[in-house]
Amino acid sequence: SVTSFKVKSKLTTDDPDKEYVGFATLPNQVHRKSVKKGFDFTLMVAGESGLGKSTLVNSLFLTDLYKDRKLLNAEERITQTVEITKHTVDIEEKGVKLKLTIVDTPGFGDAVNNTECWKSVADYIDQQFEQYFRDESGLNRKNIQDNRVHCCLYFISPFGHGLRPLDVEFMKALHEKVNIVPILAKADTLTPSEVKKKKIKIREEIEQYGIKIYQFPDCDSDEDEEFKQQDLELKESIPFAVIGSNTVVEAKGKRVRGRLYPWGIVEVENAAHCDFIKLRNMLVRTHMQDLKDVTRETHYENYRAQCIQSMTRMLTRESGTDFPIPTGPGASESEKEKLIREKDEELRRMQEMLQRYQDHLITQKDGC
Ligand code: GDP
Repeated sequence: SVTSFKVKSKLTTDDPDKEYVGFATLPNQVHRKSVKKGFDFTLMVAGESGLGKSTLVNSLFLTDLYKDRKLLNAEERITQTVEITKHTVDIEEKGVKLKLTIVDTPGFGDAVNNTECWKSVADYIDQQFEQYFRDESGLNRKNIQDNRVHCCLYFISPFGHGLRPLDVEFMKALHEKVNIVPILAKADTLTPSEVKKKKIKIREEIEQYGIKIYQFPDCDSDEDEEFKQQDLELKESIPFAVIGSNTVVEAKGKRVRGRLYPWGIVEVENAAHCDFIKLRNMLVRTHMQDLKDVTRETHYENYRAQCIQSMTRMLTRESGTDFPIPTGPGASESEKEKLIREKDEELRRMQEMLQRYQDHLITQKDGC
């Protein structure tokens, strides 16, 4: 089941001293037309519960998206299946609007039996593609609501020795459907050298198991040196080691988001403490458009191609009766007729859809 929330919060940050998320630079990434309409972005968070997913999302977008969250007790978590929740929030910065949707997969990995716990998440992503495919092939193509998932932050526990089997299984099940960005959770529980070692180990395992995570596009050779250096640092940050906190503490006379320990303060937005700023810049300032482009051009295209293939296969089998029609003595005439009618209806709908889609492709080609 999917639960949907709408959290209305308007962050207007024209005051330069105020905290802000940083997507006001988004217009640099895309065409002006989208600036007027506003941007939309759908981010999924996945991984074991308790790894700090909600805290990080709230820290990233400076908003309390999880006000109404009900935390389950141990007994409830044993039996629960993965329930997907969707939160939408409209944020505005310096006149730039962003409609952000967070798709959350709470409880993942909690149940005693975690076999195929990725399945409902994979189904959810497919359902959004399917809806888009239907809308795109339909008559009202102008106002399509795009719910496709553009990025999945996958949280890896800092307490294990690299990836766990469930992490491998989950990422492999999803890597052809969504842009996966791996996150090393709760980095404040590790020393800097442990973070470094763990990152290397995780990167090696990602390679070893053939997991295809989101690849940052290569920067142009004529870019300046500083940009190239930033690009390299970004690539070497994988998995982003993050710290989340929604409390403001005082550090050296400054009020910052951080976690207060008896031995000191870890600051979320301090690049020496974690990769939070790098992750946020990547998501909202530099790569949001690329994440959307890869979703459209690669993941959605794959889905669409598979869909058309299976539709064509079905249509070619049209003449045969490859579905069970009751023939026994008990099967009434009307039962058979009903099934045939239903099947005919389904084929007609698919034919129409395929036709409309082909017309749409021709119009697109002519338009180029
Ligand atoms: P979720 O179930 O993955 O959404 O996890 P929550 O965001 O609810 O966090 C679970 C617990 O971990 C809470 O007590 C948080 O305060 C704590 N937590 C969240 N982020 C961090 C972090 O970066 N470091 C540490 N040490 N604790 C964190």
